Amino acid sequence: METSEISKPIQLDPKTIETIESRFNQTNGSRVAELITGLRPEDPAMPERLTEIQQRILEKYQLPDIALSFSLGVGFSRIINHKLTENGISFLLKDQTQSFFDKYPQLFAAYFPDKKAIGINVEKQKDPNYNDFIYNLTLMHEAIHALQDQHGDFNFLSIEWLEFEATIGSNLLSVYQNPEIRSLISQEQISKEMSIMFENFYLSIQAHEQQGGGTHKDKYTPENILRKIDGITDEQISSFKQNHKTNS
Ligand SMILES: [Zn+2]
Repeated sequence: METSEISKPIQLDPKTIETIESRFNQTNGSRVAELITGLRPEDPAMPERLTEIQQRILEKYQLPDIALSFSLGVGFSRIINHKLTENGISFLLKDQTQSFFDKYPQLFAAYFPDKKAIGINVEKQKDPNYNDFIYNLTLMHEAIHALQDQHGDFNFLSIEWLEFEATIGSNLLSVYQNPEIRSLISQEQISKEMSIMFENFYLSIQAHEQQGGGTHKDKYTPENILRKIDGITDEQISSFKQNHKTNS
C-alpha cells in the first residue's frame, strides 16, 4: 500500500506547470539577466536598473561615461589611456598578440592579466565597420577588466559579475535617460535592444570559459533557475519532463 503511493508520480498544479514551461522557453541571455539583475531584459524597468548599476561601476573605477565618446572622439581614449598608465597597465604590440587573435578572431581586444597589458586586435581595426565609438567602447571594456585586476576583484568576483561590470560599465545607457530620444523609441524596441545585449553578454561569458575561465554555464540552465528563483524541486522538474516536451 505504502510503496505504491511512493512510486506514484507527483501531481503538478497548473501554476507550477506554467512556471516550469516558461523557464524552458526563456533564452540563455534572459535567464542570466534575471539571475544578475532580478529583471527580465524586456522589463520596462531594466534601463533604469542598469543605469543605477553603471553609475556605481563608473564611480568604483573612476571612469567617464562612454556617452562622452561622441563629443570627444579619439580624445576619449586618451582619458582611458591616462587612467591605465596611472595604474601600471600597458599596451601590447601587434606581434605580441598575433597568435592570440588568430585563435580568437571574433575579439576586438583582450586584457592579459599575466602581462598586466591590453592587446588590440589590429586586423579587426581594419574592418570598415570599425569606428571611434567601437574602439572606445572596446577599450573601456578591457580597461574595466584591467582595473578589476588592479583592485584584486579577480579573486573574489564571479566570472559573470566581472563580465557584467565590463559590459554595463561601457554601455551607452544614457540614451534611455534622454526624454527626447526616449520619445522616439518604443518600449518594444528598447526591450529588443536589452534582449540582444544580454544574449551577447551570455556569449561573452561563454568566450571567457573557452579561454579557460572555468565552467559556469550550469548556473543558467532552466533547472537551476527553477530551483534557485522559483523554489521548484527536482521531483517537480522530472515529473514535468516525463509529461511535457522541453527544448533542452
Ligand atoms: Zn570581458
